[in-house]
Amino acid sequence: SSFKHIEYQQKSGDELYTMTRTFNEMIDLLKDNYEKQEAFVSNASHELRTPITVIESYANLIKRRGLEKPELVMESIEAIHSEAVRMRDLTEQLLMLARRQKDWQLHIESFSLAEVVQKVSQNIENSYGRKVNLTVDEEMPPIHSDQQKIKQLLYIFVDNARKYSEESIEINVKNRATNYVINIKDYGIGIPEESIVKVFDRFYRVDEARTRDEGGSGLGLALASDLAKALDIQIDVQSKVGKGTTVTLTIPSFDSH
Ligand code: ADP
Repeated sequence: SSFKHIEYQQKSGDELYTMTRTFNEMIDLLKDNYEKQEAFVSNASHELRTPITVIESYANLIKRRGLEKPELVMESIEAIHSEAVRMRDLTEQLLMLARRQKDWQLHIESFSLAEVVQKVSQNIENSYGRKVNLTVDEEMPPIHSDQQKIKQLLYIFVDNARKYSEESIEINVKNRATNYVINIKDYGIGIPEESIVKVFDRFYRVDEARTRDEGGSGLGLALASDLAKALDIQIDVQSKVGKGTTVTLTIPSFDSH
């Protein structure tokens, strides 16, 4: 590889030795970053290839048999459409992740957190017909943060609760002295203890086959983790396999930016 250490024999009090050591540490850091970047590109290409293959084969099907079998056309177009949506979501997530977090523009404004949680819940209910039981504390002063990013963050967690469970999802929003606390609780498949840290890694899925069926990319929680860092939000995950998962988000209610 092109990441080579400098070999240098130590002599006592040798400044050159200190310098080579620093240099070698930098080499390790560069190598690590380079390998991560390489893995990211390779994973991303792999993820994009699947929907492209599906779209290609349905387009071919229409081309060959569309005229004689009109019912095939509608079916194929629906499949093409859903794969295109998947690709769009995937590329959006990839673009956000590829951009350095410090380059994200935050649009801080005053808004109602309760309303945002309500909108996300409504969205999940309307799109998937899944019940979301939402309870919100009575007193909810406006919050100063980036509304669109908080919405995006919430959506990732609520959508995961939907994807990995069958029953209703419970969400409650509490107003504490210096922060808001949101609990998103599902009674689904749960996450094995040793995987809880890993689910925030890019492209990591607990169960490859199942997640792919759900249209998951393995990028949602990586993005959520970046969003949370940018917004000073703390994420805690509690989960039991076969019982379900509770995600707790702690959001400062004062403007920390
Ligand atoms: P994906 O698009 O695959 O859902 P995420 O990054 O959002 O990607 O999640 C990573 C993995 O964590 C998922 O593939 C799934 O295995 C696991 N996971 C996330 N949320 C939950 C949940 N609420 N219940 C069970 N497993 C979950």
